[in-house]
Amino acid sequence: MHHGTLVTPQPRSRCSSDGAGHPNCHVNVGAVVDSASVGYPFVTLDSMMFQIRCAGCDAPGAAVCTTCRFALLGPRPQPGSHGIHAALPFTGRARKVVLGLKYRNRRQVARHLAGLVVNAIVATGDQRHVDIVTWAPTSDARRRSRGFDQGELVARHVARQLGVPCRRLLVRSGASTTQTGRSRVERLQGPEFLARPGLDGRRVIVIDDVVTTGATLRAAAAALRHAGVVEPLLYAVASTPAGAATAARRSGLAAADPTLAA
Ligand SMILES: [Zn+2]
Repeated sequence: MHHGTLVTPQPRSRCSSDGAGHPNCHVNVGAVVDSASVGYPFVTLDSMMFQIRCAGCDAPGAAVCTTCRFALLGPRPQPGSHGIHAALPFTGRARKVVLGLKYRNRRQVARHLAGLVVNAIVATGDQRHVDIVTWAPTSDARRRSRGFDQGELVARHVARQLGVPCRRLLVRSGASTTQTGRSRVERLQGPEFLARPGLDGRRVIVIDDVVTTGATLRAAAAALRHAGVVEPLLYAVASTPAGAATAARRSGLAAADPTLAA
């Protein structure tokens, strides 16, 4: 809209007043929004609340219900031979909640899962040894199809809860920028990463969503060491049971669980 010097009478529906002193303007603004912009004038807070269902059990009312919150406080998986700490086993109810990160109420689910990752970090004392939180970025193709990177989403909440900055330190490099055309052996070796230079002496926590073989986080750690990080600390939201990881190594990640983001 052109702002000229002429003072012209404003159409009532465009009045910028909050309604005080212009009661007719205020009513008109509301009427325009209801009929033209939104198209469904009878949305109420109640009906929006009923759309929120628990990612773990489908109960209405919260992104993760109280019952599921307690269930997720069970014993954490032991760090496997890959040395990666995980907040949850990727089984049962926990698996459903983690998958909810991809499909529904993802911001609230991400915040809750990040809280569980922070619990795991505090349990090992690693919160005393961190300057930056980062994440192992997913492939460009996956981020495009999903519209976001769930590792980044969780990492940002983890950083906020720890009170340290979250920075993008890693990019995928080489052939691993897309999984298409890679052999099974190459896929199982995991992606390759490049780290931002100039990280000498920085202490970094790297977050991933689901760890199976650990290849992704190991590759991320290798790139960070190359850039000067002394000992990258590796954390995942969930890890598959050891048996599943072994099966995945034998038969390929996709066969072990088609919903897995490698
Ligand atoms: Zn639930």
